[in-house]
Amino acid sequence: MVLTPIGVVRSSVSDRQAMPTFGVPARVEIFPEFAEGLRHVQKHTHVWILAWLHEADRTRLLVTPRGVSDPGEAGLHGVFAVRSPTRPNPIAMTAARIERIEGTTLYLDRLDFVDGTPVVDVKPYFRSRDAIYAAHNEQIGRPAGRQALLESLLIQAENFHGERCGGVVFGARLVEHFRSTFLDFAEAWGTQVIVPEDAGCMIDAVMTLVGATPGRGTLGFHSAPFVRFIRGDRAYTYVLLEPGRRWASWTALPVEDVLAASEEELFRAGSAPLRVK
Ligand SMILES: [Zn+2]
Repeated sequence: MVLTPIGVVRSSVSDRQAMPTFGVPARVEIFPEFAEGLRHVQKHTHVWILAWLHEADRTRLLVTPRGVSDPGEAGLHGVFAVRSPTRPNPIAMTAARIERIEGTTLYLDRLDFVDGTPVVDVKPYFRSRDAIYAAHNEQIGRPAGRQALLESLLIQAENFHGERCGGVVFGARLVEHFRSTFLDFAEAWGTQVIVPEDAGCMIDAVMTLVGATPGRGTLGFHSAPFVRFIRGDRAYTYVLLEPGRRWASWTALPVEDVLAASEEELFRAGSAPLRVK
């Protein structure tokens, strides 16, 4: 097998250790001889970028993934069970949104490949085949901290909802608090949730971040100003303090304000045994 690089990544980050988990805005320069291959690529909002991680270790089949605290045997994962660059064929794939195209350069919202990484393929991201909403992953490692968890939740919620608006940020902050405070950073998958019916964009964030859907009976609506997460025999209630005081409505939450607000300004959280009616 012979792979021919078709382009190269141009990024502000050139040190792998300095690359944020979810990458940074970057561009992919397709080499002129492959320019024709880009025809109609603008029909797609997102693309898969496949890159060759030429500096990767190709000899190991077991790695201790980021965030896994056990450095011994129990923490080892097979390379086919993780996205580590370490693998026999160091092909990496990251989906990214095309912000704009100039000539043969794709400007992407975020890419976790360092500057100079050879690109071996570009493929459209197909909503019909690539988005498997029911897919689920057991947690591999702990998030590095609350900020890292929030950043990851914001990206997931934004990907589901289509934009990062105030409601999405509010929902991500609720789920981040719930997971870090009550679940010791564990996944919230399998949580039942009840949301205010007028909470707009926030509902999208909460439902995707805990994997709740009305059809499965895990997402319910009510008219009271609180969000309730239910797991096992406990209920976790978040009384929402905003909007109503500072902000006019759910649909008018300013992103920066919701990001900057303290938790005391946003909600009051409590947990109690579930009363079975
Ligand atoms: Zn929105």
